[in-house]
Amino acid sequence: MAVRGAVVIDQDRCKGCELCVHACPQHVLRMDTEQYNRRGYRPVLLDESENYCTGCAVCALVCPDVVFTVYRYPRAERAAAAA
Ligand code: SF4
Ligand code: SF4
Repeated sequence: MAVRGAVVIDQDRCKGCELCVHACPQHVLRMDTEQYNRRGYRPVLLDESENYCTGCAVCALVCPDVVFTVYRYPRAERAAAAA
């Protein structure tokens, strides 16, 4: 499957509300169960299937703390990556 998008997560901004986890249509986000961030919360992270991220930006839209930077690859780039 061609990689369609990616997100960069600023974990130290996360307050662990889980809104993004429930909103992501690809179900590629989950909460870290092992570490706390600088604010004392368990932050969100991409799970092992991060290649399924489509760059739809729903996570960025619902996040109240501007944790996500979203990248969506152009179609030509996606086609080249798949070839
Ligand atoms: S950009 Fe879309 S698919 Fe990717 S993590 Fe965010 S909500 Fe999920
Ligand atoms: S919506 Fe934002 S603050 Fe809430 S868990 Fe997701 S990244 Fe963290």
